[in-house]
Amino acid sequence: MIVVMNSSTPLGEIERISNELRNRKITPETSRGHHKLVIGLIGDTAALNPLEIQQLSPFIEQVLRINQPFKRASLQFRHGEPSEVFVETPLGFVAFGQNHPIVHVAGPCSVENEEMIVQTAQQVKAAGVKFLRGGAYKPRTSPYAFQGHGESALDLLLKAREVTGLGIVTEVMDTADLEKVASVADIIQIGARNMQNFSLLKKVGAQGKPVLLKRGLAATIEDWLMAAEYILAAGNPNVILCERGIRTFDRQYTRNTLDLAAIPVLRSLTHLPIMVDPSHGTGFCEYVPAMSKAAIAAGADSLMIEVHPNPAKALSDGPQSLTPKQYQELMLELAVIGKTVGRPERSAQLTQVSTESAVSQLIAANL
Ligand code: PEP
Ligand code: MN
Repeated sequence: MIVVMNSSTPLGEIERISNELRNRKITPETSRGHHKLVIGLIGDTAALNPLEIQQLSPFIEQVLRINQPFKRASLQFRHGEPSEVFVETPLGFVAFGQNHPIVHVAGPCSVENEEMIVQTAQQVKAAGVKFLRGGAYKPRTSPYAFQGHGESALDLLLKAREVTGLGIVTEVMDTADLEKVASVADIIQIGARNMQNFSLLKKVGAQGKPVLLKRGLAATIEDWLMAAEYILAAGNPNVILCERGIRTFDRQYTRNTLDLAAIPVLRSLTHLPIMVDPSHGTGFCEYVPAMSKAAIAAGADSLMIEVHPNPAKALSDGPQSLTPKQYQELMLELAVIGKTVGRPERSAQLTQVSTESAVSQLIAANL
């Protein structure tokens, strides 16, 4: 249930209503958007009478029941206002959300060595990214495949962060590694395979770093939003959802099926920012540009793309990785789409010059 307050409600009145609710064994959670002030009622609200709650104060505009099983994650919980996730990086705060520019995240699947991660970071930074991605702990289908360099790769990510000022996105697979990962990551990634690892979700919910929650391979949208609800319920409001493709019947020509329809569907259900990962979503580098453009056109708030200096030699996910040059070219095209859908980016200015000369300038400046 939510209580929609008049935006001019005095603080003392909110406190008084909150205390009344606590007396009824309900936990009130106030969220102040740009236009609305909403008190979310957490607990057993089934017995509450909305009309009676309405009478608690003349500043109450509406009392509404949230019908979905996900409460804090629902769009209703913020009375239709999108949330913003602000992430601190060495270069300042970056905001994810519907009313902010598209945020680009790029980097290799796995952190392989210092030279590759630092150089790739510099190259993707030149293309306009705000965050470097790279796995230290890798969830691999085969136990015999490269598992990531672990803790030593976290140090390399820190080095790339120091050199470039980019924020770091990296995955945690195990609660035992959470503290170490959180000390390096600006955004902690929960991978598709761990989307329903509820003890891990509770732990990332109880710490302060923003969380990137990837959609499980066979997760429905409701499963996914319920997983986000675990993080929100544990006290962490900074959750970004990432669509990365789901398992359907074709395994030959695409690795996963990128569910772009999830973008408008999520928009209608949740206030949380939406990211799309077309690299895992397709599994092949040649399809990444088309799906990236489509994701922006469909309203994604952020894109995460795998980039490797030499995809043929990558220790993981080479076939779906773009080279830095391909990525830089793509970013120029994405800026045009972003502008068309009213989401201009920092690199949009580069569309004034020809793609080829802009790319060679970028590469010359940063290699
Ligand atoms: C990754 O981002 O490298 C990754 C393993 O992603 P996913 O969990 O979506 O498979
Ligand atoms: Mn990968």
